[in-house]
Amino acid sequence: MIFIYAILLGLIPASIAYKKGYPSKNEGYNFFVWWIFGASLFIVALPWAILLKSKKGELETSRASEGMKKCPECAELVKKEARICRFCGYEFYPKPKTIDQEIEELDRQKKEVNEKLKEHEDDLNEEII
Ligand SMILES: [Zn+2]
Repeated sequence: MIFIYAILLGLIPASIAYKKGYPSKNEGYNFFVWWIFGASLFIVALPWAILLKSKKGELETSRASEGMKKCPECAELVKKEARICRFCGYEFYPKPKTIDQEIEELDRQKKEVNEKLKEHEDDLNEEII
């Protein structure tokens, strides 16, 4: 019974450390190290896990200083020069439109508005009839 409690208790510091980014990709064994550590020395492991500095934040800030920027849409780090986020397709600097494109866009919007107006007119006519 105590053994089971130890396993469950060990999960607590292990998951805290995990959330802080500790078992990173090249440290896959770390979760189990934490788990065993937590199970055998819970009293020590728990405060230790809580006091751990989040690695994730450190990684992000260090990468941000190496010419990376954070995507406002998906919060992934992409290169500073990137126009479009490689994760979600967010456009950092939408391409400037030419006047022709601008006119085309306005024409399209005008058409849409006219179509909607017509729909409403039809509805109104039907109601009157
Ligand atoms: Zn993105």
